[in-house]
Amino acid sequence: KATGDVLLKVENVSKSFGGIRALKDVRFDIRRGEILGLIGPNGSGKSTMINACSGIVRVTAGKILLDGKVISHLPAWDVHAAGVSRIFQNVRVWNSMTVLENVMVCHAATRDTHVITGAIGTAKARADEDMAREDALKALDLMGIRHLANRRASDLSFGQSRLVELARSIVNKPKLLLLDEPGAGLRGGLIMELAEILKQLRNQGMTILVVEHRVKLVVSMCDRIVVLNLGDKIAEGSAQSVARDPVVVDAYLGG
Ligand code: ADP
Ligand code: MG
Repeated sequence: KATGDVLLKVENVSKSFGGIRALKDVRFDIRRGEILGLIGPNGSGKSTMINACSGIVRVTAGKILLDGKVISHLPAWDVHAAGVSRIFQNVRVWNSMTVLENVMVCHAATRDTHVITGAIGTAKARADEDMAREDALKALDLMGIRHLANRRASDLSFGQSRLVELARSIVNKPKLLLLDEPGAGLRGGLIMELAEILKQLRNQGMTILVVEHRVKLVVSMCDRIVVLNLGDKIAEGSAQSVARDPVVVDAYLGG
């Protein structure tokens, strides 16, 4: 499957919460190997879209396809198993575990061996654990926090916790990574570092959908951008063209 093919297809998706129409007939594609930015003012439906793509929110109409297969009717764990990984707007790490453990417990190999079969201590369990440790360390390396591997997660700064979360979300090498405001609460320097990390992941072949409201950051990091406003898609295109689109400037950048 080649870079540039459609990986995720959002087909005429609508979502209502009671009387609120959070998404109205939205369609766009995410191409394999790109960073697609999803922007728009507060309440425009960005988180709802990410939630729909990860199976946390059921769409009211339309569908979402991953590699040509409909995923919008699947529960979140099946969407995850199909290769869609995400982080949430609020940082969630397990404080009593070390950084390395935080990442290892999310590895498919240890999850299956320890939790499902209870095969602790067998040769297979040890091999799985070694694999999980190796992959977890690689993920920490990518985030530039391997030196924190044995620290307790409760000792980390907010920014470091965010990087642990990111390491966790890529440890199983997902096809698609969904990020809802990954830069929220981070200081300027760390935000640019995060942008570099995401570009590096993209260069290694990962596909990323990122919600972010800082336009400069979006333009510097995204290959293409989709703009939502009050649940409607109002623009789509290259970062440069979208940032200059008068409709976008009017609805969002100007405000
Ligand atoms: P954004 O992430 O762009 O700020 P959201 O997707 O969070 O926007 O919200 C879009 C609209 O849907 C808002 O009007 C919001 O109040 C509403 N909404 C989102 N989630 C729910 C929910 N679980 N129940 C009711 N309304 C919701
Ligand atoms: Mg949101």
